[in-house]
Amino acid sequence: MAKSSTTPMMEQYYDIKKQYPDAFLFYRVGDFYELFEDDAVKGAQILELTLTHRSNKTKNPIPMAGVPHLAVDSYVNTLVEKGYKVALCEQLEDPKKAKGMVKRGIIQLVTPGTMMAEGPNEAKESNYLTSVVTTNSGFGLAYSDLSTGEIYTTHLKDFAAVSNELLSLRTREVVYNGPLTAQNQDFMHKANITVSKPTPLEGEHAEISYVEQNLKNHAERQAAEQLVGYLLTTQKRSLAHLQIAKSYEVNQYLQMSHTVQNNLELISSAKTGKKMGSLFWVLDKTHTAMGGRLLKRWLSRPLLSIEEINKRQEMVQSLLDNYFTRENVIDALKGVYDLERLTGRIAFGNVNARELLQLSRSLQAVPVILDALKQSDSTELKDFADKIDPLKGVAELISTTLVKDPPILTTEGGLIQDGVDAQLDRYRDAMNNGKKWLAQMEADEREKTGIENLKVGYNKVFGYYIQVSNGNKSKVPLDRYTRKQTLTNAERYITPELKEHENLIMEAQTRSTDLEYDLFVKLREEVKKYIPALQKLGNQLAALDVYTGFATVAEENNYCRPSFHSANQNIDVVGGRHPVVEKVMTAGSYIPNDVKMADDTDIYLITGPNMSGKSTYMRQMALIAIMAQVGSFVPADSADLPIFDQIFTRIGAADDLISGKSTFMVEMSEANEALQYATKRSLVLFDEIGRGTATYDGMALAGAIVKYLHDKVGAKTLFATHYHELTDLDKTLHHLKNIHVGATEENGKLIFLHKILPGPADQSYGIHVAQLAGLPHRVLREATKLLKRLEAQGASELGPASEQLNLFTENAPEAEETTDDEAETVSNAEKDVLDQISNLYLADKTP
Ligand code: ADP
Repeated sequence: MAKSSTTPMMEQYYDIKKQYPDAFLFYRVGDFYELFEDDAVKGAQILELTLTHRSNKTKNPIPMAGVPHLAVDSYVNTLVEKGYKVALCEQLEDPKKAKGMVKRGIIQLVTPGTMMAEGPNEAKESNYLTSVVTTNSGFGLAYSDLSTGEIYTTHLKDFAAVSNELLSLRTREVVYNGPLTAQNQDFMHKANITVSKPTPLEGEHAEISYVEQNLKNHAERQAAEQLVGYLLTTQKRSLAHLQIAKSYEVNQYLQMSHTVQNNLELISSAKTGKKMGSLFWVLDKTHTAMGGRLLKRWLSRPLLSIEEINKRQEMVQSLLDNYFTRENVIDALKGVYDLERLTGRIAFGNVNARELLQLSRSLQAVPVILDALKQSDSTELKDFADKIDPLKGVAELISTTLVKDPPILTTEGGLIQDGVDAQLDRYRDAMNNGKKWLAQMEADEREKTGIENLKVGYNKVFGYYIQVSNGNKSKVPLDRYTRKQTLTNAERYITPELKEHENLIMEAQTRSTDLEYDLFVKLREEVKKYIPALQKLGNQLAALDVYTGFATVAEENNYCRPSFHSANQNIDVVGGRHPVVEKVMTAGSYIPNDVKMADDTDIYLITGPNMSGKSTYMRQMALIAIMAQVGSFVPADSADLPIFDQIFTRIGAADDLISGKSTFMVEMSEANEALQYATKRSLVLFDEIGRGTATYDGMALAGAIVKYLHDKVGAKTLFATHYHELTDLDKTLHHLKNIHVGATEENGKLIFLHKILPGPADQSYGIHVAQLAGLPHRVLREATKLLKRLEAQGASELGPASEQLNLFTENAPEAEETTDDEAETVSNAEKDVLDQISNLYLADKTP
């Protein structure tokens, strides 16, 4: 950056800019924030501003671009959304009163992880800033949503685990204390995460020890310290709402990698990235933003403890059984604002009178909720109500202090009710008396002068004046009136008396506005004392909101309460449905299916035509398990389930953009995760493994993977495959069962039954699916002919399925070699068409 000017202002600018090299410096000059130098060039481009130059006369004019201060928020948001940081530099003294250069300083550093967007779209989103430290024993991780002040910490053994948490949290910014390897840097870049250096803090900081008080693990304490330090140095304001950090272990919850959560579309649809079509979309019947955020947290961290799940279920059951209680709770919750975020704003000191009233209105809803709960016949609901402190005093304090409809600005008066403060009342009396005096004076003067339309008026420049229309000018007593202003059709005058009263009125007015502001700040400070209590209440209401939502969803969609057992891993789901697919279909058209896997069955090998419902069936099982462990009821007639410790998936063909791996590579690494880490207590979903590579290669791998899962892992596994040859595995793998999705043919057309039936599918129906997709008859005819020939030759050329199966039995030679050999036996021409058929068959499933 060339230092091309040395005016005192630019010197000050460079001084400040030096301290924030990696941020856009918004430098306040009058009504504008100015960007200079590189910031201006880059900012002008991103924000579509006009690029101008300062001091055009010099040889090296300084690039400059400005934004009006009133619109600054949207500019800052745009930059921060894109991952940049913005340092807001304000004038710290009144330019009129300043001697020499106006003092300026950074009042806040806005960063991706500390941005608090306030639109309705963000209400149910959490924005987490994450702090990561490396220690000898691994990683410490702490994260916080600044708008609510919640803080969580954990420790993790490797960077893979760290990156998984970062992705799951959808973190936008990481504060990291170590150097990043090129690979990790690449990860951060692809995941769109801004990496920030820790900011050292000087002196004692009460906030840090407050936050840390429950943390025993050294790495977690360090991460929390780094987190709070960064928040304090960037925010430069009170963070009284920071909460005591809650430590967690990832294995305290049902573990799912970020990819698994995405594949199962828990929070957003994989196709659109939107809520619609996700599990969250079905389950979110919450009425507060806090409830929505809590539900998201729960969905990504299902429970492992049957006791805790039971507690949640009891609440849902009670709300389901007590219809009127539920309706009353819902009605009351609709009037509850975002207590968690309001509390944050109270801490920052930027809450306005309207928001304080929102707080008090929210609090006024609480007694209604408590009444409703206590009038139910459920001990759970009554106990829940007993634990809630409605903070009546706070609600009353606010509602008896503030007027009903205060202005947004807190500095212009009009906030405080009469009768709250004696001094304020006196000022107001004085103002009223003054105004009465003015009215009286107007009447008196009309009489004295005989000017009927004489008026007393007020404007900001001249204060109070007497106005006389031109026609009556001659009647004006010029010995008493002094002319002040001439309009086209009137003259304005003042009198010493009028000015004297004006002074009194103005004085009373200024004093009362100042006093109102003081009283407002006092009120705000008083409410600030209740921050922890308000946060607790916010959490309780959020949970109630989620429970109520679960009850509503269960009722509307006919869900059942699942039961759990810990003695074995038996799965017994009767009439299970996919919660999302069922929702988008016409009512009643979804075909329910059972999942019955007793201890002697670990693997379901699922065959059936494309588009018949294999993938839906598998996902349905995973979603039911997750819903159950979250405490929700589930879409089934009945469900008796084990507790799953982890879920692994290999579904869908979307390339993993973040790791930059190819489809097949992703497929294999997802498979690998399951093989490495799954336990007997895990649930594994494998959909069409091996698709990403050549047929024989893929089949060999698929078979070997099934065998490994069967022999070594023992996790409950749903394995859908288009390799018919694998169905014979049940002869050697005793914990494997074949099932298939039924389909029939009518008049040469394929009809999907969507019904899971025992045994393998007898036909692949690939050609029929191709027909449905509208392929030319010629191709279909050719394929049918070839299929018949291949089937006829099957025994001699391709080898019977059972023979192929030897590949996967103990004594078989190396799988790869054998498949290669087998592949050789198909003539090239036939292989082409075979490939063509399988490509059709394997083609993208979307109709
Ligand atoms: P596959 O994995 O066998 O190719 P999918 O599971 O993707 O098939 O299902 C294809 C479509 O079939 C789904 O989008 C859905 O519309 C429908 N479907 C699946 N299962 C059912 C069911 N049980 N009842 C009704 N329709 C279903």
